[in-house]
Amino acid sequence: MKTLVYGLGESGVAAARTLIERGEEVVVADSEDSERTRGIVHSLGIEGRLGAEPRVLEGGFDRVVASPLVRPRNPVLAAAEERGIPVLSEVALGLELLGPGVRVAAVTGTNGKTTAVGMLRAILAASNVPHAVAGNSWRALSGCLEEVREAGLLVLELSSFQLHYLPGPGFEVAALLNVRPDHLNWHASFEEYAADKLRVFEGQGQQDLALVSSTDLVSREFIDSLVAETIVVGEGETLVEGGRLSLRGRPLAEVGELPFVGPHNYENALFAAAAAERLGVRLEEIREGLLGYRIEAHRLQVVAKRDGVTYVDDSKATNPAAVAAALASFEETTVLILGGSEKETDFSEILPLLDDCRAIVCQGEAGPRIYEFLEEWGVAMDVFVFLAPDLAAAVEKARRFAHPGDVVLLSPGCASFDQYAGYAERGTAFARFVSAEEANGYRGHSNEGAVGR
Ligand code: ADP
Repeated sequence: MKTLVYGLGESGVAAARTLIERGEEVVVADSEDSERTRGIVHSLGIEGRLGAEPRVLEGGFDRVVASPLVRPRNPVLAAAEERGIPVLSEVALGLELLGPGVRVAAVTGTNGKTTAVGMLRAILAASNVPHAVAGNSWRALSGCLEEVREAGLLVLELSSFQLHYLPGPGFEVAALLNVRPDHLNWHASFEEYAADKLRVFEGQGQQDLALVSSTDLVSREFIDSLVAETIVVGEGETLVEGGRLSLRGRPLAEVGELPFVGPHNYENALFAAAAAERLGVRLEEIREGLLGYRIEAHRLQVVAKRDGVTYVDDSKATNPAAVAAALASFEETTVLILGGSEKETDFSEILPLLDDCRAIVCQGEAGPRIYEFLEEWGVAMDVFVFLAPDLAAAVEKARRFAHPGDVVLLSPGCASFDQYAGYAERGTAFARFVSAEEANGYRGHSNEGAVGR
């Protein structure tokens, strides 16, 4: 079996290393020919083809392992498909090498993957169930196969990119949190994106468990096609009602006692709880795990309170659906900071949620387009809309405009690459701009003094 590993990011390198260790024939390739990629090829000690074009496939390969950052319309992958060379994602390779005997709970969705997986992990840890976590925002699966085998249980976070080249996985538990417009610069269309997300249910049998959300239109349309036992989170017996989370009709927790806020996070918690129950965890332990969970940094994280104003870093909100979730999480009047790098996303879905906004500051590369959109479509809104060149100026504007009791919310609805290397850097910069002093003591994972619903 001769493999071409295409794309030398973290997962490509992990895949190559694992195949090399197994004594398989591997060649690595990347479209980028740089010091970084040359360094990687050198450290792997195998043949590398950099600045790769479709003719790289002339090496007689049996399969191509594709990095999640490479688009399906990339010429090398398109040529591989044309020639009938199987293309698989690094996760697909990892699952294949793992072999049978490991239980897998997979989580995907446009928003909430990291949070739901983190909650499930907290529950499993609280109940001493051996498990390993890998995929997407965690580590590459093919790099931790031995640990996964030893644990016997894998919690796998999957992006649409990873699902695109992952046929029929047949997961014991498959959760689809939601499907909203995002990454449409990677996928050909929303339909293709949705089809990739739905792939998480492929290969499931009647003995498996499928989890979907009652509020997600894509999932709703697909429910009748699901073969596995299905729980629709948000209706029936697994839902939030009267301020209480219930799992299959049994009370799990009161909203007020949970260490996180926001209806979307209560929904994430129910997904994690339903998955955990399936994996054998008792209700009391699920509850304990959720009460001990701390939301990850840059997701509705309170970073400062100054002059009666609460500053919230939701830098991880990189699409309008996440902004909508953030807005629905606060009873306080908000000054919202939107904008970042341009993905041409449609912001219509936040319009009905802007009633409690005092002002919106649009900033960064996408700022002018969002500003124009709000000026045109938000005319009925009693909200001030400003344009600022960058995040620093936007924070300054928001600070001057906020009243005591308000929340200044960085929930940009855009990626960060116009000004920062990633969402974490942007969130940290936000905290710094809010207060140099507070930024020095900034710990990253605290959500103490959480505000909101
Ligand atoms: P992902 O790993 O899918 O990017 P995260 O858990 O990191 O998801 O959260 C990303 C952003 O989406 C954050 O702004 C968070 O507040 C928001 N979010 C989390 N869960 C949901 C959900 N179920 N629906 C909508 N937005 C959500």
